[in-house]
Amino acid sequence: MSLINEKIENFKIKGLGDKGVEKLKRMGVNTLKDILYFFPREYEDCGNIKKISEVKEEEFSVVKGNVIKCEQLRARSRLSYFKAMISDGSGIIEAVWFKMPYLKSTIKQGDTIILKGKAKREFGIKMVNPGYAKTDEDDITGNGINPIYPLSTGVNQRFIRAVIQSVIDKCEDEINEILPLEIVEKYKFKSRISALKSIHQPEKIEDAKSAKKRFAFEEIFLLEMFIMSRKGKSTVTNEYQLEDKKELVKKFITTIGFELTNAQKRVVTEIYKELKNGKIINRLIQGDVGSGKTIVAIILLLYMVENGYQGAFMAPTEILAEQHYLSMCDVLREIGVRVEILSGSVKGSVKTRVLKEIEEGLVDIVVGTHALIEDSVKFKKLAFIVIDEQHRFGVAQRQRIRDKGVLANLLVMSATPIPRSMALTIYGDLDVSIIDELPPGRIEIKTKWINGEKEMNKLVTFIKKKIGEGRQCYFVTPLIEESEKMELTSAQELYSLVTEQYFKNEKSAILHGKMNSKEKEEVMRNFKKGKTDILVSTTVIEVGVNVPNAVIMVVMNAERFGLAQLHQLRGRVGRGDKESFCFLVSNAKNEDTEKRLKIMEATTDGFEIAEEDLKLRKSGEIFGKRQSGISDLKLVDIIRDIKLIKIAKDEAESYLEKNRWDINNKELKEEIRIRYESREDKLGG
Ligand code: ADP
Ligand code: MG
Repeated sequence: MSLINEKIENFKIKGLGDKGVEKLKRMGVNTLKDILYFFPREYEDCGNIKKISEVKEEEFSVVKGNVIKCEQLRARSRLSYFKAMISDGSGIIEAVWFKMPYLKSTIKQGDTIILKGKAKREFGIKMVNPGYAKTDEDDITGNGINPIYPLSTGVNQRFIRAVIQSVIDKCEDEINEILPLEIVEKYKFKSRISALKSIHQPEKIEDAKSAKKRFAFEEIFLLEMFIMSRKGKSTVTNEYQLEDKKELVKKFITTIGFELTNAQKRVVTEIYKELKNGKIINRLIQGDVGSGKTIVAIILLLYMVENGYQGAFMAPTEILAEQHYLSMCDVLREIGVRVEILSGSVKGSVKTRVLKEIEEGLVDIVVGTHALIEDSVKFKKLAFIVIDEQHRFGVAQRQRIRDKGVLANLLVMSATPIPRSMALTIYGDLDVSIIDELPPGRIEIKTKWINGEKEMNKLVTFIKKKIGEGRQCYFVTPLIEESEKMELTSAQELYSLVTEQYFKNEKSAILHGKMNSKEKEEVMRNFKKGKTDILVSTTVIEVGVNVPNAVIMVVMNAERFGLAQLHQLRGRVGRGDKESFCFLVSNAKNEDTEKRLKIMEATTDGFEIAEEDLKLRKSGEIFGKRQSGISDLKLVDIIRDIKLIKIAKDEAESYLEKNRWDINNKELKEEIRIRYESREDKLGG
């Protein structure tokens, strides 16, 4: 194994003690390479920083200084805001943020921060809701380019910069090129070591950009190499024959109480045919939120069960797995089908029993989370696997569950509408079906941007009225950085705002990722049963949750979400036949936000939103902060970087063809193994 893949604790690294090692591990940094590949989120270009004394009104400026005082306050209207006074020696500027209570735990007196925004004059110079970044530099006058890393609480920029610097110094001679040299030359990429130096310590912003391009290529190239090399090896079996029984499916369809849409029927028939002909299915079903993908999956699972096999249904979160499980249980038990669930919360003797019954073939369908891929889960005759919200899973996880089947039929489902050609480019070997029709009778969700206090108050009144009519409501707050503590804070702050200020008489509950699954389940169950009126939640609610009586979705700090995510969140309402609403609360004043919120107001069509997203992403965001949408990809954005993906895929294919589907560069091979095949897979969402 090469040096850089060794664990960090085995080395003496300047500036890194035991405590530091612990901190890094908590952030998922385990090896020297993880440190080297821990890339900045953005850069602060200190060349452009203005002296506070020189800031002009109505002009976009960047300033940097020390927080000399800060506090959480309440205006007469009881609206809360966070205020900080920042000094750089030349002057003092006041920064005010409305409705971002979590800032209280982010920005502290003595911190050095950067502010970006338009200033105005009002008893001195002031910025309202400016962009901000914390830094650790004492020197305020420097004019270099500082990397800003995505850190969790308790770790600061200076620490991580120093550690990265020592690791680069230490490993410099050990960092070998892993991309084929002809590719590096052909695309004029920086070498691996030079790109690492540029991404962490750029002299010019352009250096960081070209380094990032190289790593983006590397990322997608390695993924494609992995997918393609497997594809090259696998042969499609054609040796099984189904009896094509459909009695059970028919029975099931009579119990569901509605008719399938034409799109659903089309997809089901399409897949029936392939299964019947003995083809191994490897298919992606795309359909907008609420298009009814689940039913399609269940029908196909039943079809396989009826014809003598077992099925598995994997979902990315416990909440979602439990929801699917509960809704299947009711109907399927009645028609004699045995469904069980496996997730983190199924433990002890129950788990032992379930595992045994799965292995003996007594269980027909197993619903679960990542727990399904554990080694202890053995099936007797698994032949059909469904993966819901597949972008939350990695390629390796998909492969691992397939390896458990006697037949590796795989159906993955996604509500992120990406054009067919893109899907094919990324997944190479997947077929694609599209459910392009919503069930009838849905009333279009009304979407409104809520801007300012007055509108917020009106909204509260409106929600009260709806609750009075028996409806329910979601309040969602964004996650700040990848920090657990912060998640908790933002959810709890919002919860107290909701319960103590807005809705004193209604019943509210809170849901966040740090609750254990029993607690979560309880909260969800009560909400589903209508025992609570308002559910305050972090984005754990984003994926697939289905409560038809909840007709209002309120997204706080909507500017912090991307279009795709907003669309997903909105998809939590409008799931029944009642009029539904989505309110996007944001006081942010910038062009990009305004555009995004207006698009959300104008359309509910997921494909249209995806296209707009594409346009927006093309125009801005060089160092995108938004998620790629696929859990294997960190730097590459499947929409924005589609050209790069295409190139990487072609290069991977031609490399493998030239080398007879073998990878002869030892380090490249090792890297792919570590990324995609290693047993130490990260379980959990
Ligand atoms: P998604 O595609 O987002 O996963 P779901 O499968 O959760 O959507 O379906 C959303 C809701 O629509 C569910 O309550 C489901 O029972 C219902 N549904 C699905 N198909 C139909 C149909 N053909 N007619 C009416 N309702 C349907
Ligand atoms: Mg779904």
